[in-house]
Amino acid sequence: MKIEFLGGVRTVTGSATLLEKDSLKWLVDCGMFQGGKEIEKKNYGTGSYHPRNLSFILLTHAHIDHSGLIPKLVREGFRGKVVCTKATLDLCEVMLRDSGHIQEMEAEWQNRKDRRSGGKGATPLYTVKDAEKSLRFFSPVNYNEIISLTDGLKVRFQDAGHILGSAIIELWVEEGGEGKKLVFSGDLGNSGQPIVRDPSWIKEADLLWLESTYGNRFHKSREETSQELLKIVQEAIAHQAKVIIPAFAVERTQDIVYTLGQFMREGLIPSIPVYIDSPLAISATEIFKKNSDCFDRETKEILLRGENPLDRPEIIYTRTTEESKAINEDKGPGIIISASGMCDSGRIKHHLKHHLWREKSHIVIIGYQGEGTIGRRIVDGAESVRLFGEEIAIKAHIHTLGGFSAHADQKGLLEWLSHFENPQLEVFVNHGEEKVSMELSQLIRERFNLKAEVPLWREKRILFAPEERPISEEAREEEVAPEETFHILLRHLDRNYKRLRRKLKRWGGMGEEAQDPHRLRQLEEVNRKIEELESEL
Ligand SMILES: [Zn+2]
Ligand SMILES: [Zn+2]
Repeated sequence: MKIEFLGGVRTVTGSATLLEKDSLKWLVDCGMFQGGKEIEKKNYGTGSYHPRNLSFILLTHAHIDHSGLIPKLVREGFRGKVVCTKATLDLCEVMLRDSGHIQEMEAEWQNRKDRRSGGKGATPLYTVKDAEKSLRFFSPVNYNEIISLTDGLKVRFQDAGHILGSAIIELWVEEGGEGKKLVFSGDLGNSGQPIVRDPSWIKEADLLWLESTYGNRFHKSREETSQELLKIVQEAIAHQAKVIIPAFAVERTQDIVYTLGQFMREGLIPSIPVYIDSPLAISATEIFKKNSDCFDRETKEILLRGENPLDRPEIIYTRTTEESKAINEDKGPGIIISASGMCDSGRIKHHLKHHLWREKSHIVIIGYQGEGTIGRRIVDGAESVRLFGEEIAIKAHIHTLGGFSAHADQKGLLEWLSHFENPQLEVFVNHGEEKVSMELSQLIRERFNLKAEVPLWREKRILFAPEERPISEEAREEEVAPEETFHILLRHLDRNYKRLRRKLKRWGGMGEEAQDPHRLRQLEEVNRKIEELESEL
């Protein structure tokens, strides 16, 4: 079996691994690269597979850095199954649509710019329609059930405790009488996080993909962090000021709402407005309420008392732009939770513009801030940031509260790893900035005496190759003498033509697909190439 590391290596975004056994190809995660022009170019690459040839995408969770390229693959011909948990499907429904909308807006913005400068224009990576179409291929499964995907390939999703529906993927692969168990940690949750359960422990694996977002950091305890937030809110109330919290729409927002509700339930703060100013966060909150079977024990107990921790009278959900703008009219103390979590897009930018320069306002950073983002500059102590073409001075109180993270810290990651029992376990450290992944892999080698490494982007590996099979067709072709190549190529041509003809015959009767302009263009292209060659001979 072969693997290729396609993303989430030496960076936190673009998570994807290509796996291959016999003629079967599939992906684990299909994430979008984020964080600046250079890295985002990778979203356009075709990789070393064609989406049409993939049988499955196994999806750990709904975050865009894991799911964001699924609509693009569907647009390019993927017709396999996207296997994930039910809550992940529900969240993907809103998140992929939202992502399609962002892609359309960005292309439109680029087009307007190009029209002025004579540039060549841009097409979106995918559209809202592509995102909607991609949902048809999702095939949800339950946690903890072993599912046979095909001969010699089984999978199980276990709770990763990171966001609603998030999973650790266990994969049993058999090929030519050999078998291995692969485990993908996905993003691992921070134990003690409200609403979701703690990450499940796994004991057995031959190979492990381990995330390392916070592989060199230690979070403060949940309790300590809650106390810090409480103090900040109390100070803001005393000064009639606002607390602005940039938060990821999924999980962080609901987590903070839960915590603020707890302060009010316990009478630690008076009832003050809590604005959730992010349409995506509002939709995500609705999905949380629908999937209460994924909640942890404490949250289920609150529900049993007839209370919904995500539905308190103080919470004001602002969907429309007008409602969002009206928040500025409220001069009293209050809390505004808005997206995006890294302050690079969305309504949070408006709130930052209104509050960064006010000495009494508080900005509370609770999530990971990627390199190159506005959030990262604020955390790193910049004196001003540029928002909507205007330089805004930073005078507000800036707080970073790591304990609300949805990711395990170094201690959490190592503790989770310590449950594996195989002394031969090989670990691929991924989903972290290069320096961080390197540090964690070294620690794993020293402390657990395991083989641990940080793969490179597009690095390929052969995990096990049954002896009777050639390692790869390309490798065999490289060895043949040139005079043989002509006949081999002819044989390939015959085989490919027959296969294509067969598939076309089947495909021709499929109605809507037969009108697909992309397919028609491809066929035109094939015809043109054949005619060209024929006329040259
Ligand atoms: Zn995640
Ligand atoms: Zn992630």
